[in-house]
Formats: sequence, structure tokens, C-alpha cells
Amino acid sequence: MSPDAEDASAATDRDGAGGRAAAVEEVGVVGNTIDFTEERAPCGRIVDGLRYQEDDATGLFIDEVTYSCGCRAIRHEFHDGSVRVKAVHHDGTVLQDEHSAEHEA
Ligand SMILES: [Zn+2]
Repeated sequence: MSPDAEDASAATDRDGAGGRAAAVEEVGVVGNTIDFTEERAPCGRIVDGLRYQEDDATGLFIDEVTYSCGCRAIRHEFHDGSVRVKAVHHDGTVLQDEHSAEHEA
């Protein structure tokens, strides 16, 4: 008699559990900075830029984009479901500044 078949089965189960444990380790991330190319800036130009995203554990989501022309787009999503959106033209003009609560849904 040989126990080979049983050993192989046990090894496979252990690998599966290890994979799941590794996937849970995405806690404690403060923020992500992401490069992008050829997106539409608030001024209408298609330019490169830098996006910063932060996902707070309390439910606050921050998304801030700085375009290479100088425009900026800011989006804050709060834990109560409301959203703050702000867009600033590269000449300094505030194109959009809205705070909307999603209570109509
Ligand atoms: Zn611009």
C-alpha cells in the first residue's frame, strides 16, 4: 500500500488556503499615485497628468487629478453618500464646485 495519493491531496488544500490569506493583506494603504496619459482636462485639452487616490477605512474616498496644463479636478466621496466635486481651470478659474447628497435615490 502507498499513501502517495492522500499526500498530494493534502498539499493542494494547503496551497489554496495560503492564497486566500495573501489576498487579504491590502489594509493600511494610505494613498495611490497614478500616472496617466491623454485624458481630457477641465479646460478641454487632452493632456497627461497625475491622479491621487485615497480610500479611507471610514468610507471617505478622495480622488484628485492634476493635469500637466495646470488644471485640477477633485472628487471627495463621503461616508454618508454625498459627493464633493471641484474642477479648477489652469488659469485659476473655478469651473465647478458642487456638493451633492445622494438622498434622492
Ligand atoms: Zn488646462
